Amino acid sequence: MAMKFGTKAIHAGVEPDPTTGAIMTPIYQTTTYVQDRPGVHKGYEYSRTHNPTRDALQGSLAALENGKYGLCFSSGMAAIDTLIKVLQPGDEVVSVNDLYGGTYRIFKTVFEKYGIKFNFVDLTDVSNLDAALTEKTKLIWVETPTNPLLQIIDIKAVAERAKKAGVLVAVDNTFATPYFQTPLDLGADIVMHSMTKYLCGHSDVVMGCLIVKDEKLAETLYTMQNSCGAVPGPQDCFLALRGIKTLHLRMQRHGENGEQVARFLKVHPRVDKVYWPGFTDHKNHRVAESQMTGFGGMMSFTLKSGKLEDAITVLESTKIFACAESLGGVESLSGHPATMTHASIPKEQREEIGITDTLIRLSVGVEDIEDLVADLGSALGRL
Ligand SMILES: *Cc1c(COP(=O)(O)O)cnc(C)c1O
Repeated sequence: MAMKFGTKAIHAGVEPDPTTGAIMTPIYQTTTYVQDRPGVHKGYEYSRTHNPTRDALQGSLAALENGKYGLCFSSGMAAIDTLIKVLQPGDEVVSVNDLYGGTYRIFKTVFEKYGIKFNFVDLTDVSNLDAALTEKTKLIWVETPTNPLLQIIDIKAVAERAKKAGVLVAVDNTFATPYFQTPLDLGADIVMHSMTKYLCGHSDVVMGCLIVKDEKLAETLYTMQNSCGAVPGPQDCFLALRGIKTLHLRMQRHGENGEQVARFLKVHPRVDKVYWPGFTDHKNHRVAESQMTGFGGMMSFTLKSGKLEDAITVLESTKIFACAESLGGVESLSGHPATMTHASIPKEQREEIGITDTLIRLSVGVEDIEDLVADLGSALGRL
């Protein structure tokens, strides 16, 4: 039966426990499974390979992204690590140029050593892809919306060009979640998540996943997952399943609150730019509108004064928005890319891509909107 998103979030992948009828998937806190006779077992041998709590979660994720196979990892980075290890020395990857810092780091400092080449391209203009693809390109890595500038890449246009060239497309769907965007439906081959963020949603679990449709690709990735072993534990899988049951409710509220906060900031006299893909003057708003069903609760903004101290004052003055790394939890967070996530990039280089001293990133939570707006208003009022 084809289910709608909220029903899938609650039911997909999850069956009542066959031994007791428990409606919640039990935490199978076990490493091994007793065999009936040597080599004869019930489908479970060892928990790096298979665990029933993880299997339920993997089924849920596959259904949410309209894929067929889900694979979970002990972090988002472990998911990326496993995917890139499927490539061979000499292979090339074309990647977006505004991407999560940890992804850039693993590409440059880990995988270049093993002879894989990464080409970072501005894919907000898809025609830039043509010059970047070579005979050796095996994968295109897309993140959309991007962090922290909320740039939007046209997934369908990238996938069409990739298909012609016989190249796989992977999309980091962490910011949008399948509630707002399903890249496999737009032609992508692989979806990746840092589940640490919206999917788990409660700032209490670090986890990642890959989701695919193709059986052969799933088989290759399963072999790599089992060989390398960065799997999550059953307790964390249980928490992730519990978080996913309210994904649709949370994302709806993140989106509603996000829109109101973005509109409040846009007309505030102390605020200069607001980066949020829901605005009609956003560079790729029309693409966002066509591939997303909503624009979410992530945004960033700059201050008119241009002064670093002013950004620090705002970040230190909020009472509800807590200044911290990460995003996507129920509570609102703020961050300062120039001194936090992007501090290692030289100032000129940072500013060239738009990460100025007053850029503030917000992960708008699901609190009452009146309180969030009042909190930001009083912090900005101190300038
Ligand atoms: C956090 C994040 C990652 C890395 O995931 P971890 O769970 O922290 O390992 C990758 N991509 C994006 C967009 C992220 O926000």
